[in-house]
Formats: sequence, C-alpha cells, structure tokens
Amino acid sequence: MADTPTVVLVTGGTRGIGEAIVRRCAADGYVVHATYVSSPERAEALAAELNGQGASVTFHRSDASQEDQANALIDAVVEHSGRIDGLINNAGITRDGLILRMSTADWNDVIQTNLTGVFYLCRAATKTMMRQRTGRIVNMGSIVGLGGNAGQVNYSAAKAGLVGLTRSLARELASRNVLVNCVAPGYVETDMTEKLTAEQRAAFTDSIPLKRGASADEIAGVVSFLLSDDASYITGQVINVDGGLAM
Ligand code: NDP
Repeated sequence: MADTPTVVLVTGGTRGIGEAIVRRCAADGYVVHATYVSSPERAEALAAELNGQGASVTFHRSDASQEDQANALIDAVVEHSGRIDGLINNAGITRDGLILRMSTADWNDVIQTNLTGVFYLCRAATKTMMRQRTGRIVNMGSIVGLGGNAGQVNYSAAKAGLVGLTRSLARELASRNVLVNCVAPGYVETDMTEKLTAEQRAAFTDSIPLKRGASADEIAGVVSFLLSDDASYITGQVINVDGGLAM
C-alpha cells in the first residue's frame, strides 16, 4: 500500500475552508467523508454535485464537540471505506468578546469544539492509523493561536492548544508513520469573517504584507500538499498561510 492517503475525513465540510478542502480532496481523487452540524441542505447539494462529477463524497451529521459522535463518526468511516488515511480537523467556531464580558459558556463552547473535539477525533482515528502504519492528520489552527488577538481569549487559547496537541501527537505517532501537522491561516474570506465590520476587515488587510485575505482554496491547497507524497518528511509543523502577516 502506497503512503498516499486514499480515504480522508474533513470536519466542517459544508462551508468556507472546509468546503474548499472537500472540493480539493475530491478533485485529488480521495474517497472523501465530511461532516456538518446545521446545514444538511448544503451537505446534500455538495455531495450530489461532486458525486455527479464522479467523486466519492459522503456527508455525516456529526458534532465535533461530542465524544460519542466523534467515536461513532470514525467507526462509520472505517466501516464504510475500510480505512482512514487522512483526518482534517477543520470544524471551528468563534464566540468573541473582551474577557470582562466573556461568559463561561462562551469560553467552554469554543474550547470544547475547537480543541477537545480535535482530541476526540485524533484519539479515535489514531487507533486505525497506527494499525495501518500510515496516516496524516492536519489540524486547522490560526495565527491568533501564535500571536493572540484582543477579544478572542477563548479562540486563541484553543488554537494555541492545537499547536501543542499537534507537536505531541507528531512525536507519539512518528514511529508508526502517522504524520501530524497544523495549518495556521491568517485572514480568510468566509462566513466566519463576514461577522467583522468593514473597518475591522480593512484594518486586517492593511496589516497583511500581501494586502489581501486568502481565498479558501489557498488554504485547501496547503492541506492537499500535506496529504500528498510530497509531504512525507513533514511532521509536527505549523505552516502559516497568512500572506506574511505573522512574520
Ligand atoms: P465557517 O464558519 O465558514 O464554517 C465552519 C464549518 O464548520 C461549517 O461547515 C460548520 O458546519 C462546521 N462546524 C461548526 N461547528 C461544528 C461542530 N461542532 N461539529 C462539526 N462541524 C462544525 O468557518 P471557516 O471556514 O472560516 O473556518 C474553518 C476553520 O478555519 C476553523 O477551524 C477556523 O477556526 C479556522 N480559521 C479560519 C480563519 C478565517 O479567517 N476564516 C482564519 C484562521 C483559522 P455547518 O455548516 O453545519 O454549521
């Protein structure tokens, strides 16, 4: 069996970066499984579109923040496709606010979905990947996990936590040929960043050396590279895809 992943799972595949990753993985020829929580129509339409073009895309309703659903999801993928070669932990939420006004629920929700949920899925998928002696895990971080951001103590703490998780897991799994990396986007035009005001958006793009946000496809391309044979000697890395913002 070649090291190239063949069966991949993308969390949060209905919109934004996740949708671009699903499209790219389908175009790359992978058997693609993907998740959603609140947009079944988008999941159905995307699967129908890509499968109509000859791809193999299956959507599952699975909340990444729930341990039992994460375990059941990995079981379903392995049962359906016989293996799992790539896990892309993309699903993420924001509940922004300055610390004095941040509720404990907003803190907990973000940590649970963006960090603990990644732990659940990594643990469940690792069992099969170790047995296969091949696998790739890509965690979607953020440059705010490296540099922080006012109004995002919950989100940046979760994304910083992903860096530690990525590096520790990379060390644990290297001997089994399972590679674990983190992609850290800067500013990407998606539903998540649509919440920003025009001034906030302009301030962001002004501070980016390339003077623009990324397209979701530009993030998906780096994920595609990390899943490919060309990335066979890369593990434990955080790859910033931020137009030079975090130099
Ligand atoms: P969007 O808000 O556009 O999309 C989020 C996706 O995640 C949707 O498909 C959504 O599904 C899914 N999702 C949300 N919560 C859950 C959950 N609990 N379980 C499973 N799926 C869930 O986000 P983006 O595309 O902007 O962001 C994707 C990732 O990239 C996130 O981890 C984010 O933190 C990170 N990122 C984004 C940046 C940006 O500028 N946009 C910058 C840096 C990092 P549904 O449609 O069903 O709601």
